Amino acid sequence: MDDNKVEKLECPHCKSVIKKDNDFCPDCGTLFSDEVKCLEHKDTNAEGVCVICCEPLCSECGIFINEIFLCNEHGEYEIYEGMACIFGNSDSTHIGFAKSNLETEGLHPFIFSRKASSVHLNGAYYSLINVSGEYSGNLINELQLMVPFQEVIRAEEILRDLNLLE
Ligand SMILES: [Zn+2]
Ligand SMILES: [Zn+2]
Ligand SMILES: [Zn+2]
Repeated sequence: MDDNKVEKLECPHCKSVIKKDNDFCPDCGTLFSDEVKCLEHKDTNAEGVCVICCEPLCSECGIFINEIFLCNEHGEYEIYEGMACIFGNSDSTHIGFAKSNLETEGLHPFIFSRKASSVHLNGAYYSLINVSGEYSGNLINELQLMVPFQEVIRAEEILRDLNLLE
């Protein structure tokens, strides 16, 4: 007999192992109860729980994007392995400053580095590819500050207080 089965269960959607008394999967937002109503539409059954704000929502108010349920407000986040990107920058000093501040507050930030052909700055994507379709320069090493889903809202408050986010 496997004693772990008593308190844990596997999410049928994403296969994460979660606590049995959870009413939704914190990794993908799948709801395990069909009694839960949408926060905005009290007569409509919720379709999932946004993994970032943890609100139960119907299919009009949220959607599964790449197998993860997000509300309309949080659907824009870049998601990578259970974490969401809250801040992108090519300046490692900026990113390091943001990360150490989040750690001081007890959060669990992670810096993800990738070679990008476009950069995300101040809400807009700038392509580094020129009109003839060739790279106009070297690929930029974009650094992304990621935090676990449940820490996104708190982390953004901290970065806003530091004037790193608008
Ligand atoms: Zn899941
Ligand atoms: Zn949300
Ligand atoms: Zn709704």
